[in-house]
Amino acid sequence: MGDTYDVIVVGLGVAGAYVSHTLSKAGFKVLAVDVKSYERLGDKPCGDAIGKHHLEFLNLMDLPQNIVEGSVRGIDIYSPSENVRFRVVGDGYLIDRIELVKYLVRQALNSGLEIATNTAAVSPIVRDGSIRGVILWKEGKSVEVAARVVIDASGNARAIARRLPRDWPVSEELDMVDSNIAYREVRRLQHEVEESDILRIYVSKQVAPGGYWWLFPYSHRDSYVNVGLGIQGGRGYQDPKTLLYQYVLSREMFKNSELVEAGGALVPTREPLSTLVWNGIAVIGDAAYTVNPVHGGGKGSAMVSASCVSKAVVEGMETGRVDAESLWNANLCYMSNYGVKQAVLNVFRLFLQELSDEDIEFGMSRRIIREEDLNTLSLKGYLELSVIDKAHRILAGLRRPSLLLKLKTVSEYMSKVRALYESYPQSPRELPMWSQRVKNLLSEYRARVLRGGG
Ligand SMILES: Cc1cc2nc3c(=O)[nH]c(=O)nc-3n(C[C@H](O)[C@H](O)[C@H](O)COP(=O)(O)OP(=O)(O)OC[C@H]3O[C@@H](n4cnc5c(N)ncnc54)[C@H](O)[C@@H]3O)c2cc1C
Repeated sequence: MGDTYDVIVVGLGVAGAYVSHTLSKAGFKVLAVDVKSYERLGDKPCGDAIGKHHLEFLNLMDLPQNIVEGSVRGIDIYSPSENVRFRVVGDGYLIDRIELVKYLVRQALNSGLEIATNTAAVSPIVRDGSIRGVILWKEGKSVEVAARVVIDASGNARAIARRLPRDWPVSEELDMVDSNIAYREVRRLQHEVEESDILRIYVSKQVAPGGYWWLFPYSHRDSYVNVGLGIQGGRGYQDPKTLLYQYVLSREMFKNSELVEAGGALVPTREPLSTLVWNGIAVIGDAAYTVNPVHGGGKGSAMVSASCVSKAVVEGMETGRVDAESLWNANLCYMSNYGVKQAVLNVFRLFLQELSDEDIEFGMSRRIIREEDLNTLSLKGYLELSVIDKAHRILAGLRRPSLLLKLKTVSEYMSKVRALYESYPQSPRELPMWSQRVKNLLSEYRARVLRGGG
């Protein structure tokens, strides 16, 4: 471990591994550190699903066979009673996240990456308004390492971002109500799962308050499934493991199944951090809250943020400047490739978490919301309540007019949030005013639509 680097990456999950790979390949002197041992890199509880569109964007379509554990052609979403099922079509994969991280790290090592495992980043070194490096803790000793850019990819730990000055927008903390606490197990069943290339999501406030439970079969591994449950954080709900055992693993299909892996973690489910970059710092992945707020998938978007930051760092280094202004393109890239959609989906997430099981059952069974709506929503981040469908929806919604009205208002706010995020600031100077507008719009939305507003 030398003492001066172009870039230090803190954390080697998917985000850190991807950015380490791209920046090492671009010829920079990069050090990546992780508290884990080399063997445990990438070992983070996950549902393992990822959309094909992410892998296409990230140039990862020709991953080695051993990384892909399943192919996906759609998701079935079940109503609380499980009597109504919507199929949302879309291609994806189940990925061995440990192998994916190792694959990216190996490529980075071949391009000259240095890694320090069993090493914790404990704090940033900040001087004259910019990050100058980090303090590491390795083998009982503290070491100062200098770098022109520090990239915080430490997931929920936010090891660097959380210790930055409060007036740096990258330091913004997560409100626990904007998180999901998820627990999952990998199990081998006694039998094969029908249609093993279809993921299953079950929405039920009773079973998974503020979240859902899932069953993801590994179609390339006979009778292996990933079964898990997520609840909204900060509300005092029962822990997801207890709920999973009580309501899900007690079912016949899991009888005599073999436990292969178990674990849980927190997932941020909110709008993106207002900026991924500041002076000498970039924040990516879960540390930058890049997760899809509706389904909680975050691997693809973590790597999208890594890709955007990587390009901006290359540009910044070329101009000899790595301040917020020079790295700003990372934000423009992330917003146009994922952030706008993420912010719009967050509006829908807030609405979903307010609905009762009766509302959801009613909305799905009376087709006030339809498969097509969910398809457009998940692909593009639009909730289009088309004119042709209006008459049907009004008739169907007569028994619950307030639900229909709310849905219309939600759709309007989704459009407003989209417009605001599409006009994301072109420079850090405009950020405070834009952030204030986001804050105001979300407060107005909460007041009008959530908690009994109409
Ligand atoms: C139960 C569950 C199911 C999920 N299912 C899915 C799914 O099906 N699909 C999907 O796309 N996403 C899913 N997610 C979300 C997904 O796992 C995350 O969004 C993704 O792993 C984030 O990657 P990351 O690289 O940002 O962070 P992480 O994977 O959390 O990596 C952070 C790394 O930083 C290291 N680190 C932390 N602190 C320090 C420090 N101080 N110094 C050095 N290193 C440090 C950690 O050891 C770790 O290796 C799920 C999450 C959970 C909890």
